[in-house]
This record gives sequence, structure tokens and C-alpha cells, in this order.
Amino acid sequence: MTTPLLAVENVGRRFGGFVALEGVTAAFEPNRVTAIIGPNGAGKSTFFNVLSGVMPPSTGSIRFKGRDITGTPQHRFAHLGIARSYQITNIFPELSVHENVRVAAQALRTRYDIWCNRAAMTELDDKADAALAAVGLAGRRDATAKFLAHGQQRALEIAVALVADPELLLLDEPTAGMGPEETKDMVGLLERLAKDRTILLVEHKMKMILGLSDRILVLHHGRLIADGSPQHIQTDPEVRRVYLGQ
Ligand code: ADP
Ligand code: MG
Repeated sequence: MTTPLLAVENVGRRFGGFVALEGVTAAFEPNRVTAIIGPNGAGKSTFFNVLSGVMPPSTGSIRFKGRDITGTPQHRFAHLGIARSYQITNIFPELSVHENVRVAAQALRTRYDIWCNRAAMTELDDKADAALAAVGLAGRRDATAKFLAHGQQRALEIAVALVADPELLLLDEPTAGMGPEETKDMVGLLERLAKDRTILLVEHKMKMILGLSDRILVLHHGRLIADGSPQHIQTDPEVRRVYLGQ
């Protein structure tokens, strides 16, 4: 059996006495798209926060490429190969589109020199441009980020995540607040990114999830109540009861 890219075992997270996530065990093979669904407050964002080092889990362990990364601080995650976007748009509004990505590229440099030589500067610029091209924003390179349409701002956040060249991409509600057209564009982008990356995404739009995902995990009150193919999840009676309201 191959080593999964990511394996979580008995992962839980408490806030004071409140249990937001409990006993989640799952392994993720590379180059698949997995959707995490569940009602508001189910623990989806908390799961991502734990998987991306925003907060450590209260219980359990996380392995990435066979290595135990439980408790690794957040700033190490991009170097490990794990990047994410947030449920609420998280960009520098006053910076240009290119600068937003370049700042991320620069932050990833591990060498200790404060200033870069010309070659290094060009390399950072190129890296940023490549990430923008990957999300279809090359044409908006010099626009001020706050003037982008909502859908483009979400794509920019993904470009920021891509400069780390992550093997695992965690996307928290990438189509939140989007209408049908912007959602369609985002689905196209995710399909392209999924060709050579592992994606975990939190989403609410069922039609989109069913078309895009290889696998669906269902969280409810912090617990994993179902895990399987889209076909399996659609017919699971427990899922239909708690999530689809049927
Ligand atoms: P979802 O993303 O599925 O809507 P969340 O993971 O954001 O749910 O939240 C799960 C539960 O944990 C909610 O009841 C929420 O209020 C609580 N929660 C999340 N983050 C925190 C926090 N930092 N402090 C206290 N409670 C939190
Ligand atoms: Mg959430």
C-alpha cells in the first residue's frame, strides 16, 4: 500500500469546554479532490485550521508524507508543501495583484539576506507571474487588488497559495459569495489545479461538489459522519437526514 499524502488520526479540537472537532480519522491519497461538507458550525474551518497549523489539534495526530507534523507552527506549513485559502477573503487590498503574490514569494525565501540581488528579484517576479498565470490573472497583474471583482480576488488568494508550489491545497469555501458565472470560472480553475495537486475543499454548493470531487467527507457537530464517493454520500441516509434535510 502506498503512503497517503495526508493522514489524520483521532484529530479533535476543543475551545474551552466546547468540542468543535472530535475523533476525525481519515487518509488522503495524492492527486484527488476531496470535499468537506456539513452544516454551519460543523467544524469544517476548524478542521482546516488544524490541518494548516493555524492551531494545534487538542487530540490526535497529523502525518504528511509519512512524517508526523502535529504541532508544527503555521509558518512552516508552506515549506512542508501545504497551503490554504481562507473562508473570508484575505488579501492586501492596497497592493497590486502582482505585489500580493510577490510578497508571499518573498516571505518563502529561507535565506537570511535582507535584500535580494537582481537575479533573485527576477526569480521572485517570475514566480509571482507564473502563479498569476495559473489562476488566469496575468491580465490584471498591475491592478490594485481592491479593484478586482470578488471572483478574481478569490483567484488571487489561490495564486498566493500557489507560490509555495504546494502538494496539498486547502480551500475554505472558494466560491463563497459567487454567482453562477464566477462559480463556473472557479470550478474550471479548480479542475486545472487538481491535475497535479491534492485538493481539500470546504463547499456548500452540492452540484459543484458532486461534479468536482472524488470523495466527500461529511462533518456534523465536529464528527465525521460519512466518508465516501459522491454516489455513496448522496444516498447515505444519515447524510440526507442531517445535511440535505430529506
Ligand atoms: P464551520 O466551518 O463548519 O461552519 P467552524 O469550524 O468554523 O464551523 O466552527 C465549529 C464550531 O467551533 C462553531 O461552534 C464555532 O463557533 C466554534 N469555534 C470555531 N473557532 C473557534 C474559536 N477560535 N474559539 C471558539 N470557538 C470556535
Ligand atoms: Mg467555516
